[in-house]
Amino acid sequence: MFKKLFLPILLIICALSGLVLILHNSAQQKPQVQSSQPITQKNKHQTYKTDHNLIVVNKKHPLNQNYNPFNGAIDSNNPNGAGLSKATNQAKTQIISDLQTAGFPISDQVSGYRSFNYQTTLYNNYVTSHGQKEADTFSARPGYSEHQSGLAFDLTGQNGQLPTDDKLYHWLQNNAHKYGLIIRFPRNSSAKTGYMGEEWHLRYIGVKNATKMYQKKIKTLEEFTGIIGGDYHQDARQDQMAVKE
Ligand SMILES: [Zn+2]
Repeated sequence: MFKKLFLPILLIICALSGLVLILHNSAQQKPQVQSSQPITQKNKHQTYKTDHNLIVVNKKHPLNQNYNPFNGAIDSNNPNGAGLSKATNQAKTQIISDLQTAGFPISDQVSGYRSFNYQTTLYNNYVTSHGQKEADTFSARPGYSEHQSGLAFDLTGQNGQLPTDDKLYHWLQNNAHKYGLIIRFPRNSSAKTGYMGEEWHLRYIGVKNATKMYQKKIKTLEEFTGIIGGDYHQDARQDQMAVKE
């Protein structure tokens, strides 16, 4: 009896394990299909050398007024991560969790996506309180803020302040790339980036790119991409858009 059944059972087991293998493989292949999709006409933000994660928004490369690819709220700074790309949001959640585990008093809330209109209010307030020359050193003019890209966010301390301590700076210098993030405005790099050091402002560029920058000790995104930065043009007509629409 057992011998008679043995062959059919063996065949069924073989068929089933084959099916499991096929299902497993197709599940594994899904992300590859997704990652080869972005270079289509549907995604018109895909311009920088086919890698959207490497777009450079700086004082010479603005975004247009309506740029909001990840549907952020237009009247706030989106502290819960709305308006960030999915990968940026995941990196944000993971790095904050790990920073908290490492003992840094970092809040779950960030200053994330900021719309053109929101940045207009923010910048104008700084100009009123500090004068334009000083405001330009730490706050972007509307359209020139990387926060509008949906790829950047500011860490915030649990006390509500921007965190500035050296220990955090060094931790981020050594670990941010593992999350696909970089300190976008490193200390002593304003000639390249246009801004004084901002260790709280993190930018998502993907793990592969961030790791390459880390290994090659390249400090700024401008140097990594070869796209010029620094201060504003005297004449804004010399600007080039960060993303060609
Ligand atoms: Zn920022």
